[in-house]
Amino acid sequence: MAVDSTPLAPPACENDAKALQFIEDMTRNCDSVQEKVLAEILSRNAQTEYLRDFKLGGATDRDSFKSKIPVVTYEDLHPYIQRIANGDRSPILSSHPISEFLTSSGTSAGERKLMPTIHEEWDRRQKLYSLLMPVMNLYVPDLDKGKGLYFLFVKAEAKTPSGLVARPVLTGYYKSDKFKNRPYDPYLVYTSPDEAILCADSFQSMYTQMLCGLLMREEVLRMGAVFASGLLRAIRFLQLNWKQLSEDIKTGVLNPKVTDPSVRKRLAEILKPNSDLADFIVKECEGQNWDRIITRIWPNTKYLDVIVTGAMAQYIPTLDYYSGGLPLACTMYASSECYFGLNLKPMCKPSEVSYTIMANMGYFEFLPHDPANPVQLSRDSPPKLVDLADLKVGKEYELVITTYAGLCRYRVGDILRVTGFHNSAPQFKFIRRKNVLLSIDADKTDEAELQKGIENASALLREFDTRVVEYTSYADTKIIPGHYVIYWELLVKDPANPPTHEVLNQCCLAIEEALNSVYRQGRVADNSIGPLEIRVVKNGTFEELMDYAISRGASINQYKVPRCVSFAPIMELLDSRVVSVHYSPAAPHWAPERRR
Ligand code: AMP
Repeated sequence: MAVDSTPLAPPACENDAKALQFIEDMTRNCDSVQEKVLAEILSRNAQTEYLRDFKLGGATDRDSFKSKIPVVTYEDLHPYIQRIANGDRSPILSSHPISEFLTSSGTSAGERKLMPTIHEEWDRRQKLYSLLMPVMNLYVPDLDKGKGLYFLFVKAEAKTPSGLVARPVLTGYYKSDKFKNRPYDPYLVYTSPDEAILCADSFQSMYTQMLCGLLMREEVLRMGAVFASGLLRAIRFLQLNWKQLSEDIKTGVLNPKVTDPSVRKRLAEILKPNSDLADFIVKECEGQNWDRIITRIWPNTKYLDVIVTGAMAQYIPTLDYYSGGLPLACTMYASSECYFGLNLKPMCKPSEVSYTIMANMGYFEFLPHDPANPVQLSRDSPPKLVDLADLKVGKEYELVITTYAGLCRYRVGDILRVTGFHNSAPQFKFIRRKNVLLSIDADKTDEAELQKGIENASALLREFDTRVVEYTSYADTKIIPGHYVIYWELLVKDPANPPTHEVLNQCCLAIEEALNSVYRQGRVADNSIGPLEIRVVKNGTFEELMDYAISRGASINQYKVPRCVSFAPIMELLDSRVVSVHYSPAAPHWAPERRR
């Protein structure tokens, strides 16, 4: 095992020392902590229906667990989860009552997956949050001398038939007492008032968060959002709304479009007329030049706190443009199912980000992942999963978790590569999420969903005796919000009666209607995704695409049209063959309630 014995640097202050010591303890003893965590989960859940079904018989050791409990996906657990959602309060997955469902951005049958959680889980997650600043303080001094401008939002929530709340994990966190009554911490002072973060209307929330960020611009030492896409949406918002924002600052009167009473009340305390600041904002924003706008308006910003690993890497060049290349700190790796770990070198380059899983968060196993030889899971020949302490540097694995809330050997769907160790704990580069073709924000669209969308849209072409002969797709993030682009090659049987522009626009909408609820929510409620676009290309374009791939070494026998493209020469080829462009004319349907 390659062991990185470089200890963390000395803590910035006494308070941080405890947190850093905790990280050292977890990473030095990760195998024994894991053994303890598993025993704890299995003993408290021994009487659950799930563990009894698999005849674990109260055993709490790894060998019994691994030989008796199957490795599962969400679909395997769905019947159990549905019963909990419908009101069955017996101990099905967890001996502790399920307090709410966390709705994942991963979907199943078009709907967000429902992840059961228990009250005490917030403490565990809070503990992970509490480690982030002590680590950051090792690299960036004086973060207690100013504020963080973070764009944080709550999203729509729904209720299951039995009345349990179902909402995204961060919405649950911001609405929890843990967040609202958090003790004062000089390293965690935000410009956004809680009232703005908790405002459910995304325009009003963003407007007031941006306004406060502008008012306190010189105090801002770090800026962030959960994902890179969120921070870029905020910059786009500033591009669209700087006139009104500066008007509010000039007059000291809040835009009447902000109607939320608690936000208005809070802003009345914060917003005072300041014509110098208003003039400054007008001067910086009125031109066409948005290069380095972040450091021009917020000159003391030391880094951007946003996740740019995984699908978010596509936003790095745009963030660099707006910030003049400020460091991008990816601090944490987490999911609705479980929070996993943190980046112990948060100021490293995005390409070097590795996350260290904290062994106390759950029990972690790893399914070796070799794209050339995918493992076929079957009950008869159970796969051999590897424990956290036994992973090999350079190898890729799929993450499998067992949580306090009752998920057992659950495949998260993330592929990770081991890059090294901190003490005895492995560190991981996030490689990708399995089966994701397109992603702009939290949405994750797979090939099957896109195919279904194309089929639905193709039905509209029948009356024109036209069919889609080939297609591919692209996540276009050059303009914020980004949007999906679908390249279509059509076979029009009757050139005298081709599909009309309106019908092709409707095809865009038909594809959107077929996509999952996270996509549609991004389009409708969050405005994080722009209207879907179809670019019709000249006949023969996809054959040229094949010729190009073959000229670069692809096998003619094995060639398959890529269903998603991003390689610049291929994009150039496709774009040079476009004959018409169409956009979705309306937003697709979306409501917080689930369809099933
Ligand atoms: P959700 O359940 O909606 O919170 O989504 C969790 C998923 O987001 C994870 O399983 C990852 O696929 C992705 N994710 C979370 N944190 C990171 C990160 N730091 N880098 C890349 N992807 C991440």
